[in-house]
Amino acid sequence: MALTEQELRSLDYEPDTGGHFGDYGGRYVSETLMAALSELDQNYQKLKNDPDFQREFDADLASFVGRPSPLYHAERWSKATGGAQIYFKREDLNHTGAHKVNNTIGQALLAKYSRKPRVIAETGAGQHGVASATVAARLGLECVVYMGADDVERQSPNVYRMKLLGATVVPVESGSRTLKDALNEAMRDWVTNVDDTFYIIGTVAGPAPYPQIVRDFNAVVGREVKWQSKELFGQYPDALVACVGGGSNAIGLFYPFLKDTEVAIYGVEAAGRGLSTRQHAAPLCSGRPGVLHGAKTYLMDTNDGQIAHTHSVSAGLDYPGVGPEHAYLKDIGRANYVGATDEQALCAFHEVSQVEGIIPALETAHALAYAKTLAATMRSDQTVVVNMSGRGDKDIFTVAKLDGISLT
Ligand SMILES: *Cc1c(COP(=O)(O)O)cnc(C)c1O
Repeated sequence: MALTEQELRSLDYEPDTGGHFGDYGGRYVSETLMAALSELDQNYQKLKNDPDFQREFDADLASFVGRPSPLYHAERWSKATGGAQIYFKREDLNHTGAHKVNNTIGQALLAKYSRKPRVIAETGAGQHGVASATVAARLGLECVVYMGADDVERQSPNVYRMKLLGATVVPVESGSRTLKDALNEAMRDWVTNVDDTFYIIGTVAGPAPYPQIVRDFNAVVGREVKWQSKELFGQYPDALVACVGGGSNAIGLFYPFLKDTEVAIYGVEAAGRGLSTRQHAAPLCSGRPGVLHGAKTYLMDTNDGQIAHTHSVSAGLDYPGVGPEHAYLKDIGRANYVGATDEQALCAFHEVSQVEGIIPALETAHALAYAKTLAATMRSDQTVVVNMSGRGDKDIFTVAKLDGISLT
């Protein structure tokens, strides 16, 4: 049920003690995981207000990640769209090339302050694995990354990066040999080794308290945009746009603005080959509520209740679920969720590369595609901020192949 503007302004946008955002979220996990999750919750609720912890987090964001990231006026592209002024929040300039490091730095520090010398992670395309291996090296933590055996083969550069960074990569041979099997294996490891092991989750999905923790660490993005937009154009943006896989770069931008209802919010899912085809990864646009990876949220399933196969040109958006807070924001009407197809994303990818001199990640290109459509409906004195969640270096092989060009 959509709420009134006044109601939306008066909410506190925090989960309840069970980790629910409205009907969504919570902890749908086995008994054995409950203890680990409540220990994590207690540690986090204590540390998030600990000045030493916050100081160390802020210092690493500045000197290791390179924050604050700039808010950049994409002047030529704005002109080309013929409408609102478009600004890019440059998370692509972060160390390791995306927003993911904001969260992994935070969780690695949580591990350190909770006296857990070992961290584990699961990864699909390898981006979260690399971000985790990076911060583990930075803090001197042992790091084990679970990865489906098929993904290990497909993503060999990232596997090598993780090894260079000192991590152990464990190929998971069970099931479909992809992300969901890696996830099961990581869970098993965590339950067995919880005394010395911290599980670093890569997006705002999973059981409570992970969606809140990951959001809080990424919220630095939106907090910076608040002062940067005042500085650059004297007010908050008229609209925010971000791509949504699990939803961490999006909620990082959105969260500090949730009570500022004059700011319109758009999350862009991967519409793949089209929302009517089922070959997409857009649970908020065309899925339904259910339970996935320990939380209640929107997901994509088949008629007989199995989790559906998804498709997107970008690995980072190719996920059948979404963070529970986004499910809540959709239902109450605070955020709008829309789709961009593979084709629209590729078009924006090429356009922004050529007009702005910035090669965006394919995930980000979905947000750019929608931002262009949106900006064209707005006045030239209005502003849209797009979260440039990552750089496209990792994607040039995919794009070249689609363009029929062979590299190497
Ligand atoms: C992983 C990734 C995403 C998707 O993850 P979210 O949790 O939805 O942010 C988006 N953009 C880039 C560049 C990524 O690496």
